[in-house]
Amino acid sequence: MTLNEAIEKLNELEKASYALGHAQSILYTDGDTVAPKNSWKGRGKAMAYLSELTYKQLVKPETGETLETILQHKDETDEVTFRRAEILKESYDELHMLPMEEYVAYQELVNESMTVWKDAKDGSDWNLFAPYLEKLITARRRFASLKAPDKPAYDVLLDLHEKDATMAELDPFFRALREDLSPVIKEVAAREKPVPAFLKGPWPVEKQRIFSQKVMALEGIDPLCCTLGETEHPFTSGTNKWDVRITTHYHEDDVLSSLYSVIHEGGHALYEMDVRDDMQFTCLADGVTMGVHESQSRFYENLIGRSRAFCTPLLKVMKEVFPEQMKGVTEDELYSAINLSKPSLIRTEADELTYSLHVMIRYELEKAMIGGDLKVADIPGEWNRLYKEVLGVDVPDDKHGCLQDSHWSFGGMGYFPSYALGSAYGVQMLQEMEKDIDVWTTVAKGDLSPVTAWLTEKVHQYGHLKKPCDLLPAAMGGPLDATVYTGYLKKKFTELYKL
Ligand code: ZN
Repeated sequence: MTLNEAIEKLNELEKASYALGHAQSILYTDGDTVAPKNSWKGRGKAMAYLSELTYKQLVKPETGETLETILQHKDETDEVTFRRAEILKESYDELHMLPMEEYVAYQELVNESMTVWKDAKDGSDWNLFAPYLEKLITARRRFASLKAPDKPAYDVLLDLHEKDATMAELDPFFRALREDLSPVIKEVAAREKPVPAFLKGPWPVEKQRIFSQKVMALEGIDPLCCTLGETEHPFTSGTNKWDVRITTHYHEDDVLSSLYSVIHEGGHALYEMDVRDDMQFTCLADGVTMGVHESQSRFYENLIGRSRAFCTPLLKVMKEVFPEQMKGVTEDELYSAINLSKPSLIRTEADELTYSLHVMIRYELEKAMIGGDLKVADIPGEWNRLYKEVLGVDVPDDKHGCLQDSHWSFGGMGYFPSYALGSAYGVQMLQEMEKDIDVWTTVAKGDLSPVTAWLTEKVHQYGHLKKPCDLLPAAMGGPLDATVYTGYLKKKFTELYKL
């Protein structure tokens, strides 16, 4: 096969993968937002066939040769084409070593496990989910041993979500978070502030919908390329830079929940919408790792969205939409209200200070679970023990404990650390950004465009083009340093709680 033939075949392969991925993504979003409840049967059938096509499309005999040909001609290939071949080769190798029947059986196991997990969570019934988790762990271990027989299984799973992440790197990272943050969390808990009366609302959903549109405008999201839907669990799904969908969930008694979901998912959306045009419709039009994606969403959510400067434009918009609820509220009162901190049970509702310790608990459990040191039956007890030890909270039942997250039900072991890593990456990027632009003056004016332009230049535009080991140090001004992240949190909460 000549290089030109290989590039032509690569283009054909990507055209088909893009179309299949687009269809799957829209089906999924539709199913989770506006489709009628009973539509799942028909959608499941269509989705199963599309994933079979995706497998066959990538794992045909000529794909290996196509990609190899391009990889052997690095000097004659442009950067974008070469990287596309490199990324697809990784996916090809992963899928190729799994026999088709095993791949399909795993997809079926995941589908069933996700349904069972929902019932198990609703009924707080660990025993219902346990046999499925057992099978998922076996499947993930088998996958890891096929991919890299010489590596610890959990390192292989970490690498899937955060390229090159290992336990050797993450152990000291999480240890530093725990050692640095635990004393501050304890002191803050001892100075617990009451929830201010204005936060209690009520916040009519109709008004919150208007508020969301204004918040998206404030964040600089183009409504011609990104729309907002409503789901139980907020998410972002992007098929290309001109079509990104984000979702939120409204609570009548809590305006902050949806506000920060919109800002968070909006951060993911901005990343997807700012990837360079020449990478659209290819495997490069995506975030480079889960951690980098989370670094962007959590950047807007916390570093900008929960900053003192952002309270100026935020309060203005809140007073426009909710004049009665926000009557007499000052910027300082709003700043204090959006930064209340208290150790709690649920990760997704945790405040900025305690959040990464929720992640650390899951990391410890996953290491033991995949490493074979923790039996599935013992997970609830170990979960509850760690929550008491690390955060000082008593877990009343598994619904509010080890059944709260969906990740294990889709085989996503190794995913959680990305949330904490992303938060830490973001703080180091902010430090660099502050050297280049006057972040807080522009945020206080309600103009986030210089912030987004900086992130686009350093991160967004590249999509999957640059490797994380090249992209991150350049954007963060050096390697990952847990103490920059903990230093930021300690300073912020020492001031907020006058420690
Ligand atoms: Zn996210």
